[in-house]
Amino acid sequence: CPIAEVTGADLQVPLIHGGTARYANLDYAASAPALATVVEELSRTLPFYASVHRGAGYASQASTACYESARRVVAGFLGARTDDHVVFTRNTTDSLNLLAHCVPGETVVLDVEHHANFLPWRRGGARVVEAAGTLAETLECLDRELGRRPAALLAVTGASNVTGEVLPIARLAKIAHRHGARILVDAAQLAPHRRIDLSECGIDYLALSGHKLYAPFGAGVLVGRADWLDAAEPYLAGGGAVRSVGLHETRWADGPARHEAGSPNVLGAAALAQACVTLAGLDRDRAHRHEQALVRLLVTGLEDLPGVTVHRIWGDPEGGVDTVGIATFTVAGHHPAEVATYLSAEHGIGVRHGKFCAHPLLDRLGLPDGAVRTSLGLGSTADDVERLIRAIDQLLTCGPVWDYAADARGQWA
Ligand code: PMP
Repeated sequence: CPIAEVTGADLQVPLIHGGTARYANLDYAASAPALATVVEELSRTLPFYASVHRGAGYASQASTACYESARRVVAGFLGARTDDHVVFTRNTTDSLNLLAHCVPGETVVLDVEHHANFLPWRRGGARVVEAAGTLAETLECLDRELGRRPAALLAVTGASNVTGEVLPIARLAKIAHRHGARILVDAAQLAPHRRIDLSECGIDYLALSGHKLYAPFGAGVLVGRADWLDAAEPYLAGGGAVRSVGLHETRWADGPARHEAGSPNVLGAAALAQACVTLAGLDRDRAHRHEQALVRLLVTGLEDLPGVTVHRIWGDPEGGVDTVGIATFTVAGHHPAEVATYLSAEHGIGVRHGKFCAHPLLDRLGLPDGAVRTSLGLGSTADDVERLIRAIDQLLTCGPVWDYAADARGQWA
């Protein structure tokens, strides 16, 4: 059974040879479907939303209360310290660009990162460490790099969006702090799967996206230490970010408002907060066991098929690297785009293919054409996984009914 009710669970999709199939969503890592509770919250909020912090009318007051309460909910969900700021942004990319705008020094990053946690730092001349060898060796390399020359920040992902492998955040925080650096965690992939506590783990900054956390698009957060955020120029200049404006001078606001210029996305914040409330109320141990059972079924099922390789950064999860519900694979002799098109057209299975906005990692893994990513979430079932394994088996034994490779050779040659 799924762990929670999500939208789209009964969606029927057309197949290339006629008929329909229940859509098997194995693409949670791109965007997770909304929780049913989030849909209910949105239908409650939608009828009266109004401009936040800008009106005395009832709807405006109610929207302001809703927006500020969402901020408190997110802070509680992530175990933020009382003096941390919770800044609402558009998504993880926006949050990371905002922090990159505020960081007062150099940043160290790994080469396994999503471009959102790579390019904003590189613009400021980031020092990049290769995550080669074992995970322990990667931690040693980071330790050495931070010790070699002081850095302001270590920016790491909580879980790889390509392989699902989880980084030991509390240990990384200790390493960063020992060298006088702070740590930022890109939790876009970790937060939907694991409980995170900033205070407990020693995380200084954390970024995530609502649309990967079972809320619709449009809202994300940057949570963390106030001083860097209050010291930097506002990320966006405009209404709401100021204390006063004269013809020739501006006094900027402190606090989250400093970086939230423009009319805030109150519906996005409310949806994200409701997702946090629902996730916090789930039996997360049960959800974890469910996901681990499904990911084992997925990985062993794929690895048992001839010519199928499941790719990892640091090797076998049995060797100690914890993994969230993501498995990325290639099928010998079949382009990833062909496999993904076949799965959709003939089986109604949704996966993602390509280089997953992590080009340096895919190139280092020897996958210049990319790979196929399957990812699980709260609505996933064993049936979804078994359908995928059967479909790949059928591709290997019978081939596709349509020559997708010839059809689209021009696109991926
Ligand atoms: N970081 C990671 C690890 C991700 O998986 C993603 C989305 N694929 C992002 C950052 C960027 O998220 P968004 O597109 O919501 O900004």
